[in-house]
Amino acid sequence: MTISYISKRKESTVTQTLSEHFETVRTFDSLDNFIPTDNEFNSIVVSLEFGEESIENFIIKLRKSDKHFITPLFFENNGAFLYFDTKITIIEVVERTKNVKTLYNEIGHHNYTSWENKILSYFYTRPDYNIVPKLDKHKEMFYYFPLVEYFYDGQEDYFYWLEDMANQNIFSKVKLVDRLFCCPFCFSALMKFSDHCPSCGSINIRNEKFIHCFTCGHVAPESNFLKNERFVCPSCKAKLKLIGEDYDRPLENGVCMDCGNYHIDSKLEVSCLTCHKTFTTEDLSKKFIYEYKLTEFGRNQIKFGTVSSADLIVNALNYIDLNYFTFTLNWSIQMQRRYKEEMFSIIALKLTLSEKTSSYDLLLEFSKFLRRTFRTTDFCSKIDNNSFIFLFPKTDSAGLDVLKSRIDDFIKSIKLNRGKFEVKIELFTSTKENVEEETAQQLLAKLANKL
Ligand SMILES: [Zn+2]
Ligand SMILES: [Zn+2]
Ligand SMILES: [Zn+2]
Repeated sequence: MTISYISKRKESTVTQTLSEHFETVRTFDSLDNFIPTDNEFNSIVVSLEFGEESIENFIIKLRKSDKHFITPLFFENNGAFLYFDTKITIIEVVERTKNVKTLYNEIGHHNYTSWENKILSYFYTRPDYNIVPKLDKHKEMFYYFPLVEYFYDGQEDYFYWLEDMANQNIFSKVKLVDRLFCCPFCFSALMKFSDHCPSCGSINIRNEKFIHCFTCGHVAPESNFLKNERFVCPSCKAKLKLIGEDYDRPLENGVCMDCGNYHIDSKLEVSCLTCHKTFTTEDLSKKFIYEYKLTEFGRNQIKFGTVSSADLIVNALNYIDLNYFTFTLNWSIQMQRRYKEEMFSIIALKLTLSEKTSSYDLLLEFSKFLRRTFRTTDFCSKIDNNSFIFLFPKTDSAGLDVLKSRIDDFIKSIKLNRGKFEVKIELFTSTKENVEEETAQQLLAKLANKL
């Protein structure tokens, strides 16, 4: 086995020990000199003398490279070997290196160009690792996964990917770490909450105690009733002495200083500090932060190279399985036969990816788009791995044209880092006549065939 030792000082005892246990030992005196080398090593030892920041950058370059994304990394401090923060012996260095090598041999015949495949093979070769989130108040989600960020080549959207992997049972959720509210549009957890007048939207509102006069029914803030330290109704001039007999406390407790509106509840408004959209608390999305681990099933999928990313789209929508979709469609057809105004529309869609296209990148963009575009009453199902079908209840052909043009605009706007893709779309809008003879199965088959 081969090992490289990167150190300015190049401790002779370290070089000596390494050469006693590895066939080849090569030394480098800087991290920058190591990166461009063509040599592949089974293991790397880095001296801590380079400092935390340089080493961090080095790891990122290593994990993103095509040669060293899997290579075990050890540290050296004053002649001692470290694995993360733990002191280990040279025997353990050898054992770890050997284990990673053996496991990588099982899967090394696959093509590992995308970051997803690289990280999956990384975890495959480290069966004892969990994918652990770390809290950081500067991150959009307040959490991040340090190990994943070494590999990921974009922003923090790898959260979808983790979810996707968990939904496919590639990863299991070993621990629920936290649950967060986040923006329904961009899933950032950085949000600002403010309460507003429900009538005019002003933030210039005040909490007040209210009084309800039994004599005339007048409702107003307590301050309007106060006259020489007694309560007198400003409307009917009745003296209000006994609560429950002359007056009571209504539910209202807020006054708008701008429009004068009295209200029971102010309107709580949320603004996302990341995408700057504004919404109400009911729209808030809930996000769960988990610690993950590769499953046995996942290990097999990696071994046979069968991990897919198509479930991303599915998770973004009201996804139902094809049987239930067909059932819902049948019901819609029957309704349309009975009532002229019960129309519905369908979009069938097939994605064809070129070999170089990262299906994950594409599906991620697509799933975000679908989440923005579709209503909660719309349904989606998967015909096969890359074909999807959407049902839009109460949508006529004009509504369908709007959806279609949004999809077209979106497809034109996608810029992928690498590769190409094609989208084929088939549309259908029901009328009383065109569903008279047809069953859901026939209709679905007809659309799928045209794709
Ligand atoms: Zn107001
Ligand atoms: Zn009154
Ligand atoms: Zn947002």
